[in-house]
Amino acid sequence: MTASPKTRKRVLSGMRPTGKLHLGNYVGALQNWVGMQDQYECYFCVVDWHALTTDDADTSRVKENSLEVAFDWLAAGLDPEKSVLFLQSHVPAHAELHLLLSMITPLGWLERVPTYKEQRENIKDKDLGTYGFLGYPVLQAADILIYKADCVPVGEDQVAHVELTREIARRFNGFYGQVFPEPQTLLTPAAKLPGTDGRKMSKSYGNTIMLADPEPVVRQKLKTMVTDPARVRRTDPGNPDVCPVGDLHKIFSSKETIAKVDTGCRSAGIGCIECKSWAADALVQLLNPIQERRKKFETNPRLAWDILEAGSERARKTTGETMKDVRASMGMSLEYEAPGKS
Ligand code: SF4
Repeated sequence: MTASPKTRKRVLSGMRPTGKLHLGNYVGALQNWVGMQDQYECYFCVVDWHALTTDDADTSRVKENSLEVAFDWLAAGLDPEKSVLFLQSHVPAHAELHLLLSMITPLGWLERVPTYKEQRENIKDKDLGTYGFLGYPVLQAADILIYKADCVPVGEDQVAHVELTREIARRFNGFYGQVFPEPQTLLTPAAKLPGTDGRKMSKSYGNTIMLADPEPVVRQKLKTMVTDPARVRRTDPGNPDVCPVGDLHKIFSSKETIAKVDTGCRSAGIGCIECKSWAADALVQLLNPIQERRKKFETNPRLAWDILEAGSERARKTTGETMKDVRASMGMSLEYEAPGKS
């Protein structure tokens, strides 16, 4: 780290260990994190305990998937010299604070969390009727508050969780005295990133372009990508504003290419095959240097592991300080106090 914690606002964010990351993860979070590193004191966490809130029965791939995430983080430009990169499960204070916060969090607050209701209704192949799943936003609150984070970069769908964290912080501070700042939301600009079938890019839809996909795979995926459904024949004019390939251009292509696509598509001056090849060019240009950097960690995974270990050590120090404040405020410090003195 190059600056003292006092000089910069502190940011905490995490990602589940889902294995290799896709372009949606990059545009929705990672790219933004990389850009924040010089401005904020950043803690970025692979939230491996969170994986257990929905996949508690099979933990066999959690470690390997955590490493894959770390490869992509490092390849995309997260820098352990600037940011603390660590594993949640290697910092036990997250669990200790989670326990304490769970004591003061009313059940009704958790049952009202929109993602709780949504996921219980939509995910039928997993048993989400667990204490851990209901309490997952409390664990998330602990992840944030244990660093006394000033800001949390999130997408729209996570805003309610940060609000809940603020409520929990207020309740704790109200009971035991001022310990936690109320973290602010840093809304990640939400670029619309479609998958190859036009729906939101997601592993569960099988429509992803991965950061680690080699050039031929990227080009093949682009070839099969859906387009403006109104453009059936080559001679039909199309509309890039309703075409998923048009959305990719808006995010990844140069201004000149975007203009060329707009005119060419609307006048049927270009074909979709040509247009898709330009989108593939832009993606390959973005992904090549990322994949080049990734190779170093793929061939020597220990490098990434050591970075996570060193980051976890730093995180344990920071969280140790917070837990001292927490225990003291609750009258439960580890120091001896003579009976009747409090
Ligand atoms: S030319 Fe490009 S933007 Fe237009 S419909 Fe075809 S793929 Fe989509």
